Amino acid sequence: MSDIIHILPDSVANQIAAGEVIQRPASVVKELLENAVDAKATSIDLIIKDSGKTLIKVNDNGIGMSDTDARLCFERHATSKIASADDIFSLKTKGFRGEALASIAAIAHVELKTRNESAAIGTHIILQGSQCQEQSPCQCEKGTSFAVKNLFYNVPARRNFLKSDAVEYNHIREEFVRLALVHPEIAFSLHHNDKNEYKLPKSALKQRIINVFGNTYNERLLPLNQESELVNISGFIGKPEAARKTRGEQYLFVNQRYIKHPYFNHAIGNAMEELIPANHFPTYFVYLEVDPAQIDINIHPTKTEVKFKEEKFIYSILRASVKQSLGNFNLGSQQIDFDNVSPIDFSYIASGGTPKEPKIFVDPNYNPFSSSKPTSAPIIPSSPFKNKKQNNEAWTKIYESIKENIPEEAIAHAQQSQLPLEEENKGNDNNNLPMFQTLNTYIIVHVKSGFIIINQEAASERILYDKFMRQMESKQAADVQKLLFPETLNFSPQDADIIANIQHDFILLGFDIEIFGKNTFILNGIPVGMKETNVQHLMEQLLESYKNNLISIRLSRKSNVAYSMAKTLSVKKGQALLAEEINEIVKQLFMSESPEISPCGEKICKILNEKEIANLF
Ligand code: ADP
Ligand code: MG
Repeated sequence: MSDIIHILPDSVANQIAAGEVIQRPASVVKELLENAVDAKATSIDLIIKDSGKTLIKVNDNGIGMSDTDARLCFERHATSKIASADDIFSLKTKGFRGEALASIAAIAHVELKTRNESAAIGTHIILQGSQCQEQSPCQCEKGTSFAVKNLFYNVPARRNFLKSDAVEYNHIREEFVRLALVHPEIAFSLHHNDKNEYKLPKSALKQRIINVFGNTYNERLLPLNQESELVNISGFIGKPEAARKTRGEQYLFVNQRYIKHPYFNHAIGNAMEELIPANHFPTYFVYLEVDPAQIDINIHPTKTEVKFKEEKFIYSILRASVKQSLGNFNLGSQQIDFDNVSPIDFSYIASGGTPKEPKIFVDPNYNPFSSSKPTSAPIIPSSPFKNKKQNNEAWTKIYESIKENIPEEAIAHAQQSQLPLEEENKGNDNNNLPMFQTLNTYIIVHVKSGFIIINQEAASERILYDKFMRQMESKQAADVQKLLFPETLNFSPQDADIIANIQHDFILLGFDIEIFGKNTFILNGIPVGMKETNVQHLMEQLLESYKNNLISIRLSRKSNVAYSMAKTLSVKKGQALLAEEINEIVKQLFMSESPEISPCGEKICKILNEKEIANLF
C-alpha cells in the first residue's frame, strides 16, 4: 500500500480549529472585543448587522499594529501576549493562545485597518479563507478596526446551525455586556442594524451597571467589599427586593473574566436565602481577585468554567461578605453579627483552619428548557376561542354539574352580582352562606351535594386572561384612565426592546404608552380599573413574567402579553377578599369558557361531593 498520510494545508487546519473557537457570531464578538481591551483601547465601538451574520465590526483606539504584525496576526499561534509557557501563570491579558484571528480568517471575509502611534500611515489588509487578497497602506486613526463579513460563508453546515436572529443577537449582547461590566474605565458602544443600542461612557462601576441595566438599578445595589489573603471581593449585590424569577442579572468575574460557577453562585444565594422569596434569584455583580496561581489558568477560550484551588475557603468568605453587606445596610437576617466590624478577619483560614464544607446539589440532568409543570397539565391555548368547541363541551359538563347543585338563589345571586352578602342571605333559607373565603386563598361555594373549592388566584388569572385576550382580539383600544402626572419609565435595552415589540398590544389593553428616546417610555394613562401605585414596579413584574414565559412555555405574543398581565394583576393567594369580590370572581369564572383550568394549566376548582366527603371519614 502506498503512503496515505499528508499534512493538511493551513487553511484547512485553521478551518477545523475554528470550529472550536468560533461557534457563532457572539464568539467573534468576544474575541475581537477582548483583543481591543488587550490593546489598551480606551474606547471600543461594536457594529453589528443582521445579528452578526452579515457584519461584525470592532473599532478601537488601542496601540494598533505595525505592517508586519498586521500580516502576522492571522497566523496560527501568533501572539504578542506570551513568550514562554511560564508566562501564563502571571497573565494580565485576556488572550494568549494566538488562535482567534487565524480561526476567524479561515471562515469569514476579514478586513483589517490598523495604525500604531509611531507610524504616520496605517495598513489595510483584506483576507478571504485565510488567504491575503490585498495589503496596502492607508490613512486611518491610531488603533485597529476589524470587519468580519459573511461569517461561515464556506462552512454552510455551521451557518445552517445558527439560531434565529433574536437568539444570536442576544448572545452578542451578552458578550458585550460581560466585557463592559469588567471595564467601566473603557467607553463602549454597540450599534445593531444602525440602531444605537448602548452608549456607555467611561464611568465608575456602579454607573456602568446603571447605564447597562437602567436607572432603576440606582436604588437597588448594595456595595460589596472584602479583602483577605486569599481573595479580594468587590462589586454589588441587588437588594433582596431586586430578586428575579428568571436567573437574570447574575454576573461573577474572576480576575476580570466572566465565569460561571454554580458553587459560588450557591454561596451568594445561600447568604440571601431568608430574604428573598422562594423561586427567586438574587441579582449580583461580584468581582473576585485571586492570585493567578490559585486558579487553573489554562482556560479554553470559549469556556467560562474555572477551577479554583481553594474553593471551599472562597465559598465561606464570599457567603460571609454578602451577609455582611446586607447587614451593613440593615436588611440582614438574625445570623449577622452586627458587632463585628467590617472587614471580617479571614486570616485563620490561611493558617490551616477547616471550615465546614457547604453542601450543594447540582442536577446534571437539569434542562432549563423543559417545563417544570406536570406534563398532563394543558398549556394555554394560544387563543381561548380556538378550541371553543372542546372548551364548551368540557365547560358545559362541569357547569351542568355545578348548576345542578347550586341553589337557585346562588345562581341568581351570581348573575346579579354586587349584592351585599347580608341582603343576599336574607332570602336564602337552605343555605345561609352560599359562598365564602377560607385561608384567604380559596373560595368555597356550597352546593346541594357538597361544595366547590375554588383557587382564587388561578380563577382570577383565568378571568383576566380571557378578558385581555378578548380585548386584544377586538382590535379596539380599551378605555384609558389618564394619569395626573405622566410617568417616565426606564428600562434596560433588552426590556425596552420587548416593550417596543408589544407596545401595540399594550395600547389595545388600555395603556397610553409612548416611546421617549432610548430605553425610556412615557406612560400617560393606564387601563381603567388598574391601580396607579408604582407603575414602574408593575411594568417590571409584567416584563419578568413575559420573559419567563418566553423561556418556559412557548406562547404566541398575544397570549404571553395576556397571561403576563393576568399574572401581574390577579388576586393573589393570601389576599383577603370582600364579599362583593368573592361574588364577582365566582360569577365571572362561571361565565368563562375554561373555568376549570387556569391559563398556566393549574386546576381552578374542585367539587367535593357527598361521597367524597364521606370517604374522608
Ligand atoms: P491572542 O489574543 O490570543 O494573542 P489573537 O489571534 O486574538 O490571539 O490575536 C493575535 C495578535 O494580534 C495579538 O496577540 C495582538 O498582538 C494582535 N492584535 C489582535 N487584535 C488587536 C487589536 N485590536 N489591536 C492591536 N493588536 C491586536
Ligand atoms: Mg485574542
